[in-house]
Formats: sequence, C-alpha cells, structure tokens
Amino acid sequence: MSNIIKQKERGSLVVISGPSGCGKDSIVAKYLEKNKSAWLSISCTSRDMRPGDEEGKTYYFLSKKEFEEKIKNNELLEYAKYNDNYYGTPKADIEEKLKKGIDVFLVIEVQGALKVKELIPEAICIFVLPPSMKELRNRLVGRKTESKDKILKRFTAAYQEINEVTKYNYVVTNDEIDEAVTKVKAILLSERCRVDRIEEVYLDNSEEAIHELLMGEDFENEDIKI
Ligand code: 5GP
Repeated sequence: MSNIIKQKERGSLVVISGPSGCGKDSIVAKYLEKNKSAWLSISCTSRDMRPGDEEGKTYYFLSKKEFEEKIKNNELLEYAKYNDNYYGTPKADIEEKLKKGIDVFLVIEVQGALKVKELIPEAICIFVLPPSMKELRNRLVGRKTESKDKILKRFTAAYQEINEVTKYNYVVTNDEIDEAVTKVKAILLSERCRVDRIEEVYLDNSEEAIHELLMGEDFENEDIKI
C-alpha cells in the first residue's frame, strides 16, 4: 500500500495457452496452491470424459446441442472447435472476480486465446512451450488416455499452435515445473507494477507540505560534515 499513489485494484485476466500436453494445467494448479487471490475459470466442453475428469472440476461436460445453446445465448466469452469438440469459457463470474481484485486464469487452446486477446487487449497472454517436440510427443503418449489417432491430431495441431507464439505477451518454457511456476508468478508481479495501473497520484509537493514533513519532528544531524 502506498499513500503516494492509488493503483487499480482490479485483478488481471491471465490466459495460459499452448499446445495440448505442454503442462499448462499443472503449472496453473501449482500456482493456485500457493496464491489464494487467483481463480481458475472452469470451461465447458462437448468432449467425452476421460479417466480422471470430474464434472464441474475439470470441465462442465455438455452435449454438442447444449453447447450450441450456450453459444446462441451469448453465455461464452470465447469458444473454439478443437479436435471435433467444442471448448468454451463461461462469461459468468469473470467480471465479478476481476472487480474484487482476483486474478482470473483461463487455460485454453490457441484460437480461443487469440480471441480473448482481441476482445480484451489488456489480458496477459502467456504461451507455455514444451522443451522440445520430442518431449511433447512423450508427454502426449505417456498420458495413456487417448487413441493413437487422437494423439496424432493433437501433435499435428501443436505445430500450428506454436507458430502463433509471437502473438502472445510472454513465453514460458516448461522444462521444470517449479521454475515455470516461478516465471508465471514473476510475470504477474511485474504486471502489478505497471505504471498504467496508476489511477491517481496523491503527492502533495506544496512548500507547506514539504516543510511540515521535514520540520514535523525536531531533528538535528549533528554528524553532518560539510
Ligand atoms: P483437453 O481435451 O486436453 O482437455 O483440452 C484440449 C484443449 O482445449 C487444451 O489445449 C485445453 O487447454 C483447451 N481448452 C480447455 N478449455 C478451453 C476453453 O474454454 N476454450 C478454449 N478455446 N480452449 C479450451
């Protein structure tokens, strides 16, 4: 807190994106463990549940028809079709959280991230890169949750997605998870220090104010050597 300036208390909209298997979900989960003033938006999807998925926790699982209803009713901030399934960010709650100073995280694929950037230019868009394509391949295969055909589609999409990296504000290579989380934390901290978050400067530099502060207490600096 400063009594010299007033800064915007609004939270940041943080888009974490990158190819499937790059570890963006793990980075955000770890970040959220230690940072209570951040909130993860839960997306809607029309894809089938995979082992480990939980309704309302990993996603809100909808039928294609239900998803299309949400599009029609303008309930989504963005949505994209990815591997023949819909994925989208519900609008509800986001604005309220931001107003309360809470950072809102969206963990989404590249088309959706670029749509958010277009709609909300101040969103902080972070691209998570795997250390190498070989490592990405190993992570996708190692999950053992999908057929070879689906893995191939995700891997092919990854090449196109990585081509969009320069449209983001930041890039974080997920070589070692703790280091990647530290980088995300550093990005958000530096964003909080941006001068465009200053709303007002209270500094009173009138002669009286300066005099009052300086002379408010009697002090004598006897050690001063001129
Ligand atoms: P998965 O099927 O592996 O859960 O997700 C496939 C891709 O969709 C991932 O890159 C994931 O981050 C992304 N995704 C998840 N939720 C959303 C969303 O709300 N919007 C968009 N555009 N992509 C999403």
